[in-house]
Amino acid sequence: MSLPATLGEAMALARGQIPQSEARLLLCEACGVSAATIIGFPERGLAESAASQFVDWLSRRAQGEPVAYLLGRREFFGRPFRVSPAVLIPRPETELLLELALARIPETAVRVLDLGTGSGAIAISLALERPDVEVHAVDLSDASLEVARGNAAALGASVRWHHGSWFAPLAGERFDLIVSNPPYVASADPHLARGDVRFEPIGALASGPDGLDDIRAIAAAAPRHLKASGHLLFEHGYDQGAGVRAVMEGAGFAEVATHQDLAGLDRVTLGRLHDAALMRI
Ligand code: GLN
Repeated sequence: MSLPATLGEAMALARGQIPQSEARLLLCEACGVSAATIIGFPERGLAESAASQFVDWLSRRAQGEPVAYLLGRREFFGRPFRVSPAVLIPRPETELLLELALARIPETAVRVLDLGTGSGAIAISLALERPDVEVHAVDLSDASLEVARGNAAALGASVRWHHGSWFAPLAGERFDLIVSNPPYVASADPHLARGDVRFEPIGALASGPDGLDDIRAIAAAAPRHLKASGHLLFEHGYDQGAGVRAVMEGAGFAEVATHQDLAGLDRVTLGRLHDAALMRI
């Protein structure tokens, strides 16, 4: 394929293959120009290196690779996070989980925990919004902890990282609040074979036949790792509110409630540990 010589030719090449808004974003990145320049000066020439970068991204995007993986970056809670195919791409609806967590971290809290941190988006945002709090984060994947550590360094956040499965690296540790966006998609959900999620790590997405295996495991173990009246918050699927409430109530949580995301879908369920359910270690 011959390389586009101008911004306008590059946009024309993308037409019919990917949405124009995505083409413009990729072209901005490849050329280091603004969207206004692309729109206002289609006759402007582009360097061969920029043109070949754009053509490479265009064909990969047309095959389905997520824009965030092509650019290696996604915004979350107003900050840029590096992402790689080792981590789930931060979603806008996860900002609800973060907002609900921030509203529940006590003024005098000392420690909060993010389980399954991936890119570190939740843990790092918590640490930057509440620098007085000691933030811990766990992930099973070494590759994702590397991405998360890089993000913390780039954004100037202080987080204590732990490698392992859920609470395994935290024996004897207690927290004021535990937050998690665990895998929650049912393993046979056809959604896993469509769109951007095909390129994301399956271990960050799928969780048993009903998608609740990890939520059940975390809720069952959380009473050993929360302080009295500590909070537990989960992100989950739009049709899992009742299921997650039942799991949390069964595990000894009170004031269990589900919150909706901006699309009006059940997205986060949270509760407070009942004093009687606090488990001694
Ligand atoms: N919300 C994501 C999706 O449906 C799933 C994220 C997750 O499993 N934690 O693609």
